[in-house]
Amino acid sequence: MKSSVSAMIEKSPRSFARRGSLADKTGLISLKNVTRDYTSGERTVHALDGVSLEIARQEFVAISGPSGCGKSTLIHLLAGLDHPTGGEILVDSLALHSADDAALTQFRRRQVGLVFQFFNLLPTMNVRENVSLPLLLQGVSPAESEERATQLIDLVGLRERADHFVHQLSGGEQQRTAIARALVHRPSLVIADEPTGNLDSHSAASVMQLLEKIGGEGLTTLIVVTHSVEVARAASRHVEMRDGRIVGDSRSAS
Ligand code: ADP
Repeated sequence: MKSSVSAMIEKSPRSFARRGSLADKTGLISLKNVTRDYTSGERTVHALDGVSLEIARQEFVAISGPSGCGKSTLIHLLAGLDHPTGGEILVDSLALHSADDAALTQFRRRQVGLVFQFFNLLPTMNVRENVSLPLLLQGVSPAESEERATQLIDLVGLRERADHFVHQLSGGEQQRTAIARALVHRPSLVIADEPTGNLDSHSAASVMQLLEKIGGEGLTTLIVVTHSVEVARAASRHVEMRDGRIVGDSRSAS
């Protein structure tokens, strides 16, 4: 049986995937000798110490490493939430290292989907409203936003929960809602920061399967920061960091 992701793409190819994106494996992200220093008083921490990395479109990359090795710093830079101290960061031809705040805001709004450990859903909104929000912020009409949100809610298996509020959902359901929200505006890049870190093992497994499906079918470029060996194994590429540097970069056999 076809998975829900491929079924959805076949059913409405232009309404979900970016046109041509499924066949397009060209580079999306290029980091060249990126540094990020934090200085307080006399002390400087080299949170990133010369990171160079190329990530292709539709790659599913897990990033792991001990606490303090620079993972959050790296994903904040990739999400356009921060500027590097040195080096170059290109995402989809946009030079993030030199982009001004207005360009970074546009970039985040249009190109990036974020998934956090603690879901960050709006408690006063139901599932459908939470998932629609990125589209409404882009100026998409309420009717189209709702239609596209409904597609994504189906994709993550929450059709029966669409009208439920956040407090009526399990942790796993909240994270699946957050994943639907991260994908709904068809970003080129989805970044998930410890997406299973706050879930029981059953919910973590269902979220991991969803990420594997999304990453495995090339629906978007997916970067997941994780301590979980299972999530790292599910990814097609595993980047390991230590002390602000990349110390391992391996691809799975398949
Ligand atoms: P990780 O996500 O792998 O735990 P971080 O990227 O959060 O690592 O941190 C990398 C290093 O940078 C750590 O030594 C951390 O203490 C330091 N650091 C991170 N953010 C700041 C900040 N805003 N100010 C000062 N030091 C920071």
